[in-house]
Amino acid sequence: MATDAGPWQASVLTLFPEMFPGPLGMSLHGRALERGIWGLDARDIRAHATDRHRSVDDEPFGGGPGMVMRPDVVDSALHEAANAVDGPRPIIYLTPRGRPLEQARVRDLADGPGVILLCGRYEGVDQRVLDAWDVEETSIGDYVLSGGETAAMVLLDATVRLLPDVLGQADSLSDESFERGLLEYPHYTRPACWTDRQGNDRLVPDVLTSGHHGRVAEWRNEQAEKITRERRPDLWRQLAEQDEKGQGR
Ligand code: SAM
Repeated sequence: MATDAGPWQASVLTLFPEMFPGPLGMSLHGRALERGIWGLDARDIRAHATDRHRSVDDEPFGGGPGMVMRPDVVDSALHEAANAVDGPRPIIYLTPRGRPLEQARVRDLADGPGVILLCGRYEGVDQRVLDAWDVEETSIGDYVLSGGETAAMVLLDATVRLLPDVLGQADSLSDESFERGLLEYPHYTRPACWTDRQGNDRLVPDVLTSGHHGRVAEWRNEQAEKITRERRPDLWRQLAEQDEKGQGR
């Protein structure tokens, strides 16, 4: 959250600082960046290389393919980034073996002063520097990207949109997928009857044009529950467990 100490601040450690702000410089996030609601500091890890080849990686001990980012270089980059901000903040290494990123963690991050993100390349980062800095490891999904930069952008996209005054309508967040532990209900807009390319007339569900707010809310809730049950049995089970413990919706 933006505080008296300044805007919500993201520091990104990367071998490709020129990739930023990239898509985060556009639309809602770009406008929020211009308005100073959040700040973005993309820092070049290579600036911390000490040899004449400016190397940031080396071969893995124990053999095997690929290269590993050196602990001394990453440590120096982390040290400089941590000193450049006021007060402590979470340091997150984006990695496929991390804990999956979830909306609850995104919300916590948005409520804090900012974040320092470490983007890996090659096979990843030497474990010792991750241990030394007690780095949180976060994955954006069960697939392997070529670098942590796009993962960092995903995390920042999800977080920055929750900062106050970034979205136009504060209300638009409350029904969103995951906010209540459910996926969102389906949306419809004009025209009320739309003909698809096969000539089928596709109508909006009657309840949505009934003007009856109570019935609309009930229908949306039923749809959200149905979709969650069908598509994400894991989420549905979690909700059932919370309901049993009396912490439900
Ligand atoms: N050797 C690593 C493994 O098997 O877990 C993959 C390394 S990947 C080629 C290079 C970098 O991309 C990683 O260090 C990480 O920063 C980033 N990355 C790849 N997939 C990711 C994911 N699903 N979530 C977050 N970061 C990811």
